[in-house]
Amino acid sequence: MYKNEYLNRIYASVKEKNPEQKEFINAVKEFLDSMDYIVGLDPDIEKYSILERIVVPERILQFRISWLDDNGKVQVNNGYRVQFNSAIGPYKGGMRFDPTVNLSILKFLGFEQIFKNSLTGLPMGGGKGGSDFDPKGKSDNEVMRFCQAFMAELYHFLGPDTDVPAGDLGFGAREAGYMYGMYKKLNKESSGVLTGKGLSYGGSKTRTEATGYGLCYFVEEMLKTYYNDTFKGKRVVISGSGNVAEYAAVKATELGAKVVAMSDRKGYIYSEDGIDFNYVIEIKSNRGSLIDEYLKKYPNTKHGSNPHDIWKIKCDIALPCATQNELNLEDAKELKKNGCKIVSEGANMPCELDAVKYFSENDIIFSPGKASNAGGVAVSGLEMSQNAMHLSWTFEEVDEKLKEIMQNIFKSCFETAVKYGEPKNLSLGANIAGFLKVYDAMKAQGVI
Ligand code: NDP
Repeated sequence: MYKNEYLNRIYASVKEKNPEQKEFINAVKEFLDSMDYIVGLDPDIEKYSILERIVVPERILQFRISWLDDNGKVQVNNGYRVQFNSAIGPYKGGMRFDPTVNLSILKFLGFEQIFKNSLTGLPMGGGKGGSDFDPKGKSDNEVMRFCQAFMAELYHFLGPDTDVPAGDLGFGAREAGYMYGMYKKLNKESSGVLTGKGLSYGGSKTRTEATGYGLCYFVEEMLKTYYNDTFKGKRVVISGSGNVAEYAAVKATELGAKVVAMSDRKGYIYSEDGIDFNYVIEIKSNRGSLIDEYLKKYPNTKHGSNPHDIWKIKCDIALPCATQNELNLEDAKELKKNGCKIVSEGANMPCELDAVKYFSENDIIFSPGKASNAGGVAVSGLEMSQNAMHLSWTFEEVDEKLKEIMQNIFKSCFETAVKYGEPKNLSLGANIAGFLKVYDAMKAQGVI
């Protein structure tokens, strides 16, 4: 399957040792595809067993979380933290609270995080964590008791130079506050060991906007480089209506585009006049259903109950910002049919591998989440810097740094893709550029 036998052995071993973990296996496969361009050129990668090591987490913590619901009944959830790779800095990556959470998903996300964090240029290793706990429908007190119980297990393994978790699906400022409060109490220190904190106790300005804004800064570079163009007058379709989708809609509009569709788990809304995303933000801040609530204010809005149908809407730019595997090969064909030129991932691996292959064979420029959604973790890194310096930068200062980081990530992906003869293959560029820094650090630090 791979030109290089070494890669075939690695892939076979990952499949054999993790038979149930399809999301993780897919992420490794996608990464190994790019390694085929470089392992033959550098025998040290095999000599030092770099790939054997990089596909195995340094440590996985798995524990029981027992907590009391509002009726006094004991509830039990699984808790995890995957400390994947610390070669270039402390483990860094979000916590996901969602019923779909399992080890395969967290390993896939943690693996991606290694290269994403490396691409930001900041000293952060890769990690991910979470629980099958569903915050939806829980009271604030229940969420607090759950978060406290989670942190009571995890705090031994965290620290500003060890592991610094952040948010992800189902884990926002409320959860970060409860987790951080408990960490502080148990550890008797205020080093800011979680990012995504509230602004009154060490959070960074622009963190809320960072992933969506960063995505648009990245797409701006794609438009400029590949089409000598800008966002002005472009039709944009954005899936999801959570944190990433919302602020991607805000920034794309600010840059001159029209966002014509958004979605959630129950379906999509579509408007030729452009979506009123401020209203979407209001709906979602009240945890409402997109279609039900949006139609109350705009009853003539076109809509549908299958979220996949959002990809049938004519657009120049598609930004999948909801969840993994939400855009398949059939969706990719629909996008092509309707003239889409750019697909840029705001979520983590929302596009299935055969959809990505189809994009590259059909002249749609694609960027992988590990590059284009790195704005969130980049500002998390900036939050760590501000905490360490006991400083707080302004919104504009952080936004400026975010933009510069996203431009640098694009540059390093693009230049690497050019170097290996595939200028439109940003996945190749991201994987190789992200890997080389981690590889260098692993080699320098010896066998540990
Ligand atoms: P949120 O929980 O804020 O929002 C997720 C949104 O996606 C919700 O609107 C949800 O709908 C919707 N959704 C979930 N599944 C589907 C589906 N199958 N079809 C359509 N819509 C769906 O999450 P975020 O915005 O924070 O994260 C989104 C993605 O981006 C995730 O993959 C995450 O890992 C990734 N990411 C997030 C970062 C961040 O800073 N937040 C950083 C980097 C990556 P509903 O409202 O109905 O639940």
